[in-house]
Amino acid sequence: MINLEIPKKFVPLVGQAHQVAEEVFRPISRKYDQEEHAYPKELDMLAALIDGMNDGSDLGGGAGAAGVRRTDNGDGGVRNGSNMSTVLGIIELCWGDVGLLLSMPRQGLGNSAIASVANDEQLKRFEGKWAAMAITEPEAGSDSAAIRTTAVLDEETGEYVLNGEKIYVTSGERADLVVVWATLDRSVGRAAIKSFVVERSNPGLKLDRLEHKLGIRASDTAAFILDDCRVPPENLLGSPEVDARRGFAGVMQTFDNTRPLVAGMAVGLTRACLEETARLMSEAGVEVDWDRPAANQTAAAAEYLAMEADYEAARLLTLEAAWMADNSKPNSLQASMAKAKAGRTCVDVALRCVRLCGSLGYGEGLLLEKWARDAKILDLFEGTQQIQLLIIARQLLGKTSAELK
Ligand SMILES: Cc1cc2nc3c(=O)[nH]c(=O)nc-3n(C[C@H](O)[C@H](O)[C@H](O)COP(=O)(O)OP(=O)(O)OC[C@H]3O[C@@H](n4cnc5c(N)ncnc54)[C@H](O)[C@@H]3O)c2cc1C
Repeated sequence: MINLEIPKKFVPLVGQAHQVAEEVFRPISRKYDQEEHAYPKELDMLAALIDGMNDGSDLGGGAGAAGVRRTDNGDGGVRNGSNMSTVLGIIELCWGDVGLLLSMPRQGLGNSAIASVANDEQLKRFEGKWAAMAITEPEAGSDSAAIRTTAVLDEETGEYVLNGEKIYVTSGERADLVVVWATLDRSVGRAAIKSFVVERSNPGLKLDRLEHKLGIRASDTAAFILDDCRVPPENLLGSPEVDARRGFAGVMQTFDNTRPLVAGMAVGLTRACLEETARLMSEAGVEVDWDRPAANQTAAAAEYLAMEADYEAARLLTLEAAWMADNSKPNSLQASMAKAKAGRTCVDVALRCVRLCGSLGYGEGLLLEKWARDAKILDLFEGTQQIQLLIIARQLLGKTSAELK
């Protein structure tokens, strides 16, 4: 059975992540919001420290997206593993700053893809590298099965030759590797989509531009052109076979691991907004009383209690999805539920907190206005709110993606 207390062995990790969020992220949060595209160099030392922590631990991740490999504990018992520790670490760090978490070296979403589906040899070869993830294209966002980037096997050299365009690649400029989704045969549909690990230094992977954004400005978002980009066959993740029966399963597996992480980011940001709002309300003489019905309190306190209930629901769904991943239970449904609830809650709570705090919430003197801007992405990338609801509906109704679009 799942126990939703923070597992004892992760308590120190949560404490350390919180300390980093408070002492490293928050003080530089505004600076890198204003200096979009500047590299937060403060993170280099931090990333080295985290590498050291992970090396010396059997807990896997803990701070970023790399620690989501599913391992069988063998004894059939219940475990709290690297998915749980990673989510807990991310919640704390995103209480500090989501954009800076996304900028942490070696913790990219491409690292999750590698951790999720790479074989042992690939895992070792790509160890210590920072990997971004490139799925989205100008004509393929929510419908990732529509991607047009092609991968053609060069029979002579054995290499795959990639051609196409990728947009909105988080950490695309800064990462060492980019995990690129491409199709081996567009006529076959989803089953022919494979992921390839491309070195950033590959001359066929051309950086086109960096995007300017509403929020998470500390995080770089790149667009690439793949122009006869040659990739060695050993950089294909998963099987090179096109198996129509397995369809999308290989690549989609990554999302079951990464959606709880993005939900965790939203949970962390939501808590930051709530705590800041409670502080400001208290300064203004509005106290929240958890022992009295909401209806008997001020409107502001009642609204706060309602937001907090949503936050708790999002947090528990997120922990459940991560726990299921650690225990090798299929969690596509729970991962989408967590992402949908946490993403929606985070946007909603951030905007309501800005409203509750009035001009203080809207001004740049505090971080609330920034958090309201940062929040939106968490309900957008790794599948929008609408797409998560669609996935949930398909699962509950037993419909395929062809039957329910
Ligand atoms: C800052 C940022 C970072 C990103 N990082 C990455 C990254 O690292 N790697 C990567 O590959 N991508 C990344 N993305 C891309 C992101 O995942 C996509 O933007 C997202 O999947 C939505 O795709 P789209 O923008 O093409 O919107 P569209 O798919 O065109 O959707 C537009 C709207 O229509 C809705 N919609 C679409 N289909 C349906 C449907 N069937 N039913 C109901 N509503 C629907 C959507 O919910 C949305 O509201 C990033 C995006 C941003 C903004």
